[in-house]
Amino acid sequence: MNGQMMSAPLLISSLITHAARHSGDVPIVSRRIEGDIHRTTYSQLHDRARQMAHALGGLGVQAGQRVATLAWNGYRHLELYFAVSGSGAVLHTLNPRLHPDQLLYILDHAEDQVLFFDLTFLPLVEAVAGRCKTVRHFVAMIDKDKMPASKLPNLLCYEDLIAAQKPDFVWPTFDENTASSLCYTSGTTGNPKGVLYSHRSTMLHTYASVMPDAIGISSRDCVLPVVPMFHVNAWGLPYSCAMVGAKLVLPGPALDGKSLHELIATEQVSFAAGVPTIWLGMLQYVEQNSLSLAPLQRTIIGGSAVPPSMMRSFEDGYGIEVIHAWGMTEMSPLGTVCRLRQKHLADPLDVQHARLEKQGKAVFGVDMRIVDPQGADVAWDGKSQGDLLVRGPWVVQSYFGPDGAQPLVSDETGAQWFPTGDVATIDADGYMQITDRSKDVIKSGGEWIGSIDLENVAMAHPAVAMAAAIAIPHPKWDERPLLVVVRKPGTEVTREELIEHYKGKVASWWVPDDVVFVDAIPIGATGKMLKNKLREQFKDHRLPGV
Ligand code: ADP
Repeated sequence: MNGQMMSAPLLISSLITHAARHSGDVPIVSRRIEGDIHRTTYSQLHDRARQMAHALGGLGVQAGQRVATLAWNGYRHLELYFAVSGSGAVLHTLNPRLHPDQLLYILDHAEDQVLFFDLTFLPLVEAVAGRCKTVRHFVAMIDKDKMPASKLPNLLCYEDLIAAQKPDFVWPTFDENTASSLCYTSGTTGNPKGVLYSHRSTMLHTYASVMPDAIGISSRDCVLPVVPMFHVNAWGLPYSCAMVGAKLVLPGPALDGKSLHELIATEQVSFAAGVPTIWLGMLQYVEQNSLSLAPLQRTIIGGSAVPPSMMRSFEDGYGIEVIHAWGMTEMSPLGTVCRLRQKHLADPLDVQHARLEKQGKAVFGVDMRIVDPQGADVAWDGKSQGDLLVRGPWVVQSYFGPDGAQPLVSDETGAQWFPTGDVATIDADGYMQITDRSKDVIKSGGEWIGSIDLENVAMAHPAVAMAAAIAIPHPKWDERPLLVVVRKPGTEVTREELIEHYKGKVASWWVPDDVVFVDAIPIGATGKMLKNKLREQFKDHRLPGV
């Protein structure tokens, strides 16, 4: 017997209609590529999103077709989030940090029909436009008087498209399983793979994200997503903020410490989100200039492991709570968030800190396991490591496209799980800690050495700006760790001092065999260290005594 309640589909358009109706006057502040600060509200944004939805129809975009963006975090990009998905088409956010050849591959693979872009990316668009097979219209996201002189075919002006339409578009109702948006993985191994989200998966992810033990935002927050809207939908924050009616501050192209600090101070940002590499820059800027970070109260950091030293800088130096989170494109992205339970509040401070350094507990909706190579469950004792598997309504089922691989594995009951490629421990209270990506693991004498632990220890040294631990082939032990270090400007530290720094902090057989100093560590399109590049660079490195 079915229940007798309304069956209203979960649709992304409901987020903006709700925000406009119930939080219509809440500001959305954007730093534009023009350099100025732009202000709008949820109510005005709703009108413009509906004008854009009409315009998309005028461009011939049909339900299910892909509309691509190459854009920073800004109000026009946000309008497209609602206009494209809300009207039944699929928003495909492209990562401009990818190599043009990779972008071209993704544009063709997704069969994008229209490409919206910020002027910053005009040269990139011009470089690929002649070669991409399906894009029919290029739209510059800029005022009419700033339209560039360009040979792009069918180049349209965003503001012209909006101005020609009325804000009376009626959002269609359709099946909540309809595709809403598309993100490609960064493709550090092989070609990027498309993850196609649905309205249902996005809405459930949004409900779960805003819960207090998850991202935890409310209508009293002013939220600064530094994480790009081209990277896993800025961790869903554009949707979450609309759901709760939070003020949004969108940083545009200016992601340097000074610009971010300025926005935090002038817009009274209470909550910010970003990857560790972004916060390294901002912390350095505020430290060097003896600035305060008030009114920021909380920051959620993920995408890579947060170095404990960064947590201490935020918390002890500025009184800002750091919330460590883990996820991936295949998970929309939220998987776990680290928050203390009631019983942990009685723990000594150092025990609390150690717990908060973990990636945290599964958000309701995500189920997880750790397994050995035979697929058997590994104990949740906080020590035993295993391959991390997940499942849930916002976890990928299969990759996009005719060649879309089916990545899931079945357990003995037939239930399907997504193998994350991460290696982790889970403790008795359910707190998960990533020790490595499976391809970054250092295997010494048949045992795993956690490269993240080695990096965290190095990062705690006052002279270390960035550190990566990578595996180097070893005749006796198979592999041994090499530490690659970028020194902070104006500091000195030797190989011997760094090796000494490990004593007593990790098992003696984990201590790196060698340290090399470099000017920079290669960073990928989503802000992560490219350890495969480092392994290639140092493949002929001879460890001492070998
Ligand atoms: P995103 O960077 O948004 O998480 P990607 O799909 O690009 O999405 O990368 C996912 C991978 O990033 C994870 O499988 C994991 O290896 C790594 N990762 C994400 N968050 C963390 C974290 N908090 N700690 C350690 N690794 C993380």
